Amino acid sequence: MNVSVVLFTSDLRLYDHPPLRAALDDARQVVPLFVRDPAVAAAGFAAPNRLAFLADCLRDLDAGLRARGGRLVVRSGDVVDEVCRVAAETDADVVHMAADASAYAHRREARLRRALEAAGRRLHVHDAVTTAVPPGEVTPAASDHFAVFTPYFRRWSGQRLRDTLGAPRTVGVPDDVGSEELPVRAELPELSPGLAPGGESEGRKRLASWLRGGVNAYEDRHDDLAGDATSRLSPHLHFGTLSPVELVHRARQAGGPGADAFVRQLAWRDFHRQVLAARPDAATRDYRTRHDHWRSERAARADVEAWREGRTGYPVIDAAMRQLLHEGWMHNRARLLTASFLTKTLYVDWRVGARHFLELLVDGDLANNQLNWQWVAGTGTDTRPNRVLNPIAQAKRHDPDGAYVRRWVPELAGLDAPLVHEPWKLRGSDRVAYDAYPDPIVDLAEGLARFKRARGHD
Ligand SMILES: Cc1cc2nc3c(=O)[nH]c(=O)nc-3n(C[C@H](O)[C@H](O)[C@H](O)COP(=O)(O)OP(=O)(O)OC[C@H]3O[C@@H](n4cnc5c(N)ncnc54)[C@H](O)[C@@H]3O)c2cc1C
Repeated sequence: MNVSVVLFTSDLRLYDHPPLRAALDDARQVVPLFVRDPAVAAAGFAAPNRLAFLADCLRDLDAGLRARGGRLVVRSGDVVDEVCRVAAETDADVVHMAADASAYAHRREARLRRALEAAGRRLHVHDAVTTAVPPGEVTPAASDHFAVFTPYFRRWSGQRLRDTLGAPRTVGVPDDVGSEELPVRAELPELSPGLAPGGESEGRKRLASWLRGGVNAYEDRHDDLAGDATSRLSPHLHFGTLSPVELVHRARQAGGPGADAFVRQLAWRDFHRQVLAARPDAATRDYRTRHDHWRSERAARADVEAWREGRTGYPVIDAAMRQLLHEGWMHNRARLLTASFLTKTLYVDWRVGARHFLELLVDGDLANNQLNWQWVAGTGTDTRPNRVLNPIAQAKRHDPDGAYVRRWVPELAGLDAPLVHEPWKLRGSDRVAYDAYPDPIVDLAEGLARFKRARGHD
């Protein structure tokens, strides 16, 4: 065989890339292809922060390929049309790509297979590229997916993972395949000012430093809001600049309670993917309905606005929402608190919150975002669907000296804990000094009572 095409999607890397390795094994030359599909933008997934991170990833992938004698080919258009066009131009026999979990990915795969086969070509879809354990590989006796994490994790942990692959030494690309210019981050408007840089080189640096240091303290410190002691690898996992298989292997080699806890989080990522693969409608519909009649009246819309802008009057919630605006990223504990506040304390539909997160999160990911939102809202896989997180108790526990709040809510920078978490307790002239900061938009006890009534638990 002379030429194979490798279609890159959510796997923008050279290390541990089975489709690229298979293409290099069966052909003399490969076309590393990325297609900018307008359908992704039309479906509302082209958020500026992710487009910027993607631009970094494509440039870095191109640089990595050039260092190996190749280059990245970028085209715009319907992904099936463009892949078929490139395959025809180069007379490629096979197109290699990674499997993915969403309904869009399944449709893309089916359409591409049909179109290629009609032209006498073949599609080879590789598992364990965007997940460590592919959706459907472990299932309970009577279902196509696990609905509860703990038994899933037990089976997931027992799976044998494929070996990690190195990056190729050389990649020969045919000279005469045209490519568009690569996108440039600096040309994109409305980015979060503190957005992290993307690309495989950046991801590998972050991974190396994480495994050298941070991971050891992960079990004890992963909920420490101010300590920021999680890996921050989520955008790299979302864009596939790092391989989940490699991460699991390397964390297991590192060993210890921190690495074990980190591997468990990677299993959560696979867990949500196997739910979404089996129940694609869970991206938009309740996985388990609780017959909610979410608030949507004018007052609810005003509450949502305050939540989005970080002015609910609950400092830890506002700190988190402002972190999201500034960085396009939020700490996991903060995601739990802000999502519980919206869906339970304010009793607003999880889809409203999920949409806002997807507009900003650099790691914004259909499986992880929608299913975590559903988990918190109690419409998903949480076995305690009516639990409500108290933002004050949680703030005192996970931001005990108030440093997280002071970092993101400058109006409160002069306050110490515990007052920084409850500024409404200030009296007289002390309160006046902080009047730039709003009063709470809801009474927690009233919010809780409303939620219990709505769920029939009062
Ligand atoms: C409401 C809500 C929305 C979320 N939306 C997203 C999203 O759009 N994209 C996303 O990647 N994660 C999402 N998460 C999960 C989690 O918050 C992030 O993965 C994590 O904060 C990323 O930071 P980190 O890389 O430092 O994580 P670490 O704590 O270092 O964990 C390592 C990796 O494990 C995976 N992981 C960790 N926690 C979870 C989890 N609860 N579910 C699934 N995978 C997990 C991530 O890939 C993460 O990068 C969401 C969580 C909640 C509660």
